[in-house]
Amino acid sequence: MSVVWAKLLWCLGVIGWFAIRYPHERRARRAPKKLRGDRARELALLTISATGMLVVPAIYVLTGWPQLAEYQFRPILAWSGGAVFASALWLFYRTHKDLGRNWSITLEIRDQHALVTSGVYRHVRHPMYAAFWLWALAQSLLLPNWVAGPAGLTGFGMLFFFRVGREEELMLETFRDEYRLYMARTSRILPGIY
Ligand code: SAH
Repeated sequence: MSVVWAKLLWCLGVIGWFAIRYPHERRARRAPKKLRGDRARELALLTISATGMLVVPAIYVLTGWPQLAEYQFRPILAWSGGAVFASALWLFYRTHKDLGRNWSITLEIRDQHALVTSGVYRHVRHPMYAAFWLWALAQSLLLPNWVAGPAGLTGFGMLFFFRVGREEELMLETFRDEYRLYMARTSRILPGIY
C-alpha cells in the first residue's frame, strides 16, 4: 500500500461513517426533547472533536500540510489502520441500530427515552464512543504525520473525557437504579478494563 491509498482509505472511512449516520441524524432533528445538557459547552466540544477528526486530517490529505511533521510511511501501519477503521464502522453501525431513537448528537433525553442495555450495550456503556476511539486510532495509523495523525485522538479525547461523566449523571438522574445497576455490571468502553 502507498501513502495515497492510505489517505484514500481515510476518506472512504469518513464517507462510510457519514453514510451510516445520515438517516439517524435526519430522524433525530425532528424528535421532541425533554431534557438538554449545556448546549454551548456541547457545541464547543463537538467543534474541538470535529477539528481533530475532520478538519486537520482533511487539510493534510488534500495539501500535505504540515509537511514538517511528516514521518516515514509504513504499509503495515496503514493496513492495520484500514482494519481498525473497518471495525469502527461495524461497531458504529451496530450502536446506531441498538440505540435507535434514543440517539442524539448532544446530551439529551427524549420525550420517550428508553434505556438500552442490550446488543452491543450489553457489554459496555459507551460503545458508540468506543467506535469513535477506533476511528481516531485508525486515523493515526493511516496518516504518517505527527500532527494530522494523532489530532483525532486529542480532539475526540477532549469530547469524551469532558462529556462521559456528565452523560452518566444525566442517565442516573433519568433512570436512577436501573442505570446504577447497569453501571455496576458494565465497563465504559473496554469490557472488564475501563
Ligand atoms: N454514550 C453512548 C451513547 C452516545 S449518543 C455510547 O457511546 O454508545 C448520546 C446520547 O445517548 C445521550 O444524549 C444519552 O441520552 C443517550 N444514551 C447514552 N447511553 C444510553 C443508553 N444506554 N440507553 C439509552 N440512551 C442512552
